[in-house]
Formats: sequence, C-alpha cells, structure tokens
Amino acid sequence: MIDYERSLNRAFEHMPEYLTTDVRFSIPEPHIFIEGKTTVLKNFLEIADVVNRDPTHLLKYMLKELGTAGKLDGNRVIFQGKFTAETIQSQITAYADEFVICSECGRPDTELVRSDRVLMLKCAACGAHRPIRKRRVRPVAAKDAIEEGGEYDVRITGVGRKGDGFTQIDKYTIYVPRTVKGEIVTIKVNSISGTLAFAEILERKATE
Ligand SMILES: [Zn+2]
Repeated sequence: MIDYERSLNRAFEHMPEYLTTDVRFSIPEPHIFIEGKTTVLKNFLEIADVVNRDPTHLLKYMLKELGTAGKLDGNRVIFQGKFTAETIQSQITAYADEFVICSECGRPDTELVRSDRVLMLKCAACGAHRPIRKRRVRPVAAKDAIEEGGEYDVRITGVGRKGDGFTQIDKYTIYVPRTVKGEIVTIKVNSISGTLAFAEILERKATE
C-alpha cells in the first residue's frame, strides 16, 4: 500500500505541467512599480512566455489598450503614465481571452494562423479554430494623482535631509520613513499637503 502511494505520488510529480492547468492556465501576477511618470512591469517577458506569444505582439496590444507609449527594457516594460496592477492584469487577461484561450475547450494550447488574410486561433487540444475578433480601441485614463489612504508600489529614489526616503509620483514627493534609496516598497499614503505627501511602509519588496 505504501509502495502504491509512493509510486502514485511519483507519477503525479512527473506529470507534464499542462495537465495540471486543465482549464485555465495561470498567468503570473504582474509585478509593477511606479517610477516618476512611468509604470514599470518587471515580469513582462515571463508573462509573454506563459501566454506563449511574441512579446512584441503582446506589448503592441497593451499599448493600444492602455492608450500610451512604452518600451521593452530587458525583461521589463516601461509604460508612460501610471497604471495600477489591476489595470495591467485586466489587459493581459483580455489579451489571453482574445489571442490565446480556445473558446471551445478553454485551453491555452493554441497557435495563431493566418487563413485567407484572416487571423485565426487554432487549438491543438480540440482542433477548434475561430477568427480573432476585431476590437475597439478603448483607452484607459491614467490616474495621475495619489490619494490619502491609497496604497502604492514605489521605488525609493532618494533620501531627504532628515534621513527619510522619498519617491515621486506625478507632482507629488512622498516621504517614507525607514526606507533607503533603491528599495521597492509598498506604501500607504497617510496625508497629502500641497505637493508633499507622507506615507508609511507596508511591505519591503526588493532592493535594486
Ligand atoms: Zn480547444
């Protein structure tokens, strides 16, 4: 019995990964931070890799949907303007629904093929194919202000005279005590006064 369970466990360990992503595959959560007037998506290439599409195709789609400019920078993409992780994530999900997921069986094992100049999504799992829909361009307005009580992922860009780290979002300089330059942190803005804001640190994410 024990041997049986052991070999069963071993069988599960050796299952190809796609079997465990039966219906929905899991797209990595976008890791973003705001830097100045830009939004940095750190794991862009990883996401493009999981959806198994040309990164430039995905990027072009996102720029069009977000109504902004941006560029590839190593593994990351830098978008002009400020976008929340939710906004970025919803664009990626919409991309997957349109260009990756089979509408018949819901699986991502598909490829894009051109047939009579029409772009088709062809499913390797069930054989279904469908044309790619034409979509309306629907720009998402960039939020250009912070608000009291709001939480943001930011990179600390400097340290003030009193030793508090600070960062810049749009016109605001936000002071965050107990941080150092180069740290990426989640902050909560407690108060805003003119173009100065004061925040507390909620979580340290990384140091660049
Ligand atoms: Zn299918």
